[in-house]
Amino acid sequence: MPKVAIYPGTFDPITNGHIDIIERASRIFDKIYVTVARNPAKVPLFTIEERIEMIRESIAHIQNGAELDILAFDGLVVECARQCGASVIIRGLRAISDFEYELQMALMNRRLNEGVTTVFLMPHENYTYLNSTIVKEVASFGGDISTFVPPIVQQRLKEKFQLK
Ligand code: ADP
Repeated sequence: MPKVAIYPGTFDPITNGHIDIIERASRIFDKIYVTVARNPAKVPLFTIEERIEMIRESIAHIQNGAELDILAFDGLVVECARQCGASVIIRGLRAISDFEYELQMALMNRRLNEGVTTVFLMPHENYTYLNSTIVKEVASFGGDISTFVPPIVQQRLKEKFQLK
């Protein structure tokens, strides 16, 4: 049976840390759905369409055998997994600071659906301090983000913040 996983997140925007996780996961699973939360509660900087387009372009080069797909979703992550026919939820673990929240989520999701297992992957140490929020903050002040995000994201952030 093919091993199907979802990688849920807000991806506002996708960073090299997210891409590192997708690359690693693509060596383990047969099919990965990158599932993008609409997440109106978080008031994302980018629309769902913009976030999906940036992900599409940023992961096009990943050819490790796994089929990659991108979907928008609302609601429960376990429900999204069920609809995708996935038995695994992939999450990235960067540091101890991620651990408590991620553990809580993983155990809650397991309670909601015993058939879905959360698998944590650690990114390359270069990306352990990286998150979408800090990238947006640096970009908003015109800082160099070229080593944190792919070129398409760099370009879109410049446009958002109307920087030259
Ligand atoms: P969420 O709102 O669900 O936390 P994010 O887009 O911030 O969505 O993150 C999605 C997943 O990617 C989470 O598991 C998060 O820990 C992981 N992640 C975010 N940034 C990185 C990074 N730099 N390296 C590895 N994993 C990361």
